[in-house]
Amino acid sequence: MNLADIKTVEKLLKPLGFSFKKSLGQNFLIDSEVCPAMAESCADENTGVLEIGPGIGVLTVECAKVAKKVVAIELDERLRPVLSTTLADFDNAQVVFGDALKLDLSALIKEKFSDCDRVVVCANLPYYITSPLVMKLLESKLPIDSITVMVQKEAAQRLCADVGSRDAGAVTVAVAYYAQAEILFGVDRTSFMPPPNVDSAVIKLDVLKEPRVKVKDEEFFFRFVKACFAQRRKTLVNTVANTLGIEKGKIYEALNTLGIESTVRSEALTFEQLANLSDALC
Ligand code: SAM
Repeated sequence: MNLADIKTVEKLLKPLGFSFKKSLGQNFLIDSEVCPAMAESCADENTGVLEIGPGIGVLTVECAKVAKKVVAIELDERLRPVLSTTLADFDNAQVVFGDALKLDLSALIKEKFSDCDRVVVCANLPYYITSPLVMKLLESKLPIDSITVMVQKEAAQRLCADVGSRDAGAVTVAVAYYAQAEILFGVDRTSFMPPPNVDSAVIKLDVLKEPRVKVKDEEFFFRFVKACFAQRRKTLVNTVANTLGIEKGKIYEALNTLGIESTVRSEALTFEQLANLSDALC
């Protein structure tokens, strides 16, 4: 069964009277090259794959072909009968029904992947939860090697931007703290059913063994970074003073000590400069 074939998708979903839910980010892949490429870029026969949002299982089966095991989390119970048909031939694939944002992923990984050498995440993400989900995966410090996900093109550019470039935002810095990010390839909107209004890209986040820098206070570092990018048109001093209520004098002093211009905008700072400023202000 070719699950990337539009006629097969229709044949599986029509008898259920299935309607795509925009609110669940349901755009199913109908491009037969994308899923094998995603699976091969992150998994081998010793790998356990955690997938978020299998839909009808188009990526799940490709991961099951190359990986030791696949566990997919799906929120939409209406897909239960379809998935039990499409995954019937893959005894190394199983589905857990639930909300990936709410499930205890650490416990799930422990329970399901103890027989795998390493665990990776591979998914065509529902776009409405891209940032919170990526951050949940990274912040929970799960025992995962990498995260290979399809996201909206703009989100890919933001998540994988160089810190210190115009595309960077708070989420760029947060991702760079935990991982090395790269865009693997672009995917046109016509590769989906129904087609979304935007193009997509597959990105890979290789999770670092240790965070990129050691900061004095991790919780403050993330609050500081959020504040830095909260008001992008303002200088760093103004946005940090407004958002965190820190005295401007203290911020000027920290910038001066670190040899940074007092009128600097947050997007111009390197990762190390942000970390040093955070340490000076916490
Ligand atoms: N993997 C399939 C594909 O590539 O065709 C489907 C991808 S579709 C973009 C996103 C999938 O995530 C849908 O099946 C949707 O029901 C599911 N989903 C949406 N929100 C979810 C959540 N919070 N937790 C788990 N799955 C979710």
